[in-house]
Amino acid sequence: MAATYLTSLGDKAQLDELIADGKLAGRSEPRVLVVGRSNVGKSSLINALVRDDIAHVSKQPGKTRKLNFFFSTNLRKVIVDLPGYGFAKRAPAEIRLWAELIQAYSERDPNIGLAIVLTDSRHGPTPQDIEAWSYFKSLHVPRILVLTKSDELNQKERFARNKEIAAVLESMPGAFLSVHWVSAKKGDGMLDLFKCVKEWL
Ligand code: GDP
Repeated sequence: MAATYLTSLGDKAQLDELIADGKLAGRSEPRVLVVGRSNVGKSSLINALVRDDIAHVSKQPGKTRKLNFFFSTNLRKVIVDLPGYGFAKRAPAEIRLWAELIQAYSERDPNIGLAIVLTDSRHGPTPQDIEAWSYFKSLHVPRILVLTKSDELNQKERFARNKEIAAVLESMPGAFLSVHWVSAKKGDGMLDLFKCVKEWL
């Protein structure tokens, strides 16, 4: 098994039980957050990154609104699968709960090393993406931006998308350490991303 499901978090009240002495569910390895809106390709990317079929666990009923924790043997990291933020149709109270839970977790966990923020490369950055980018910036966790489904764009389209993203990022200095184009489907960019995450800490 290249990856193992550890546990999940759906309530701030469970934080004391989850994190003790800097360990999360008994593991001391650095944590890597993965976040993106629903359907961005998060499960496919996590599976490709940990080289196992694990992210389906997060799609089980009841787990989709929770933070799900996995241990990746290859990366020697704990992967934190954050609930998607495709909540345009959800009530503001629910959105607030989502942000509060992530914030409470990130403030409590002393060993978060990196956040991988996913954006679908087929679409330009949406107002929701930009909101999420700045929200994660406010958490003060090192971040990288990963553009998913790169196989869906030709070179010209990629060039145009890069320009669009660079223009947005110009107004958010320091938002991301790096930008990666990946295709979980074809494997393009996955090795570089794997190395980046593995060697980051
Ligand atoms: P999640 O909802 O963010 O966990 O996304 P999934 O991993 O379940 O993927 C959502 C949809 O995008 C599925 O239909 C996947 O087959 C598709 N998908 C995921 N990754 C890729 C990719 O790299 N390329 C393409 N073309 N499709 C992808």
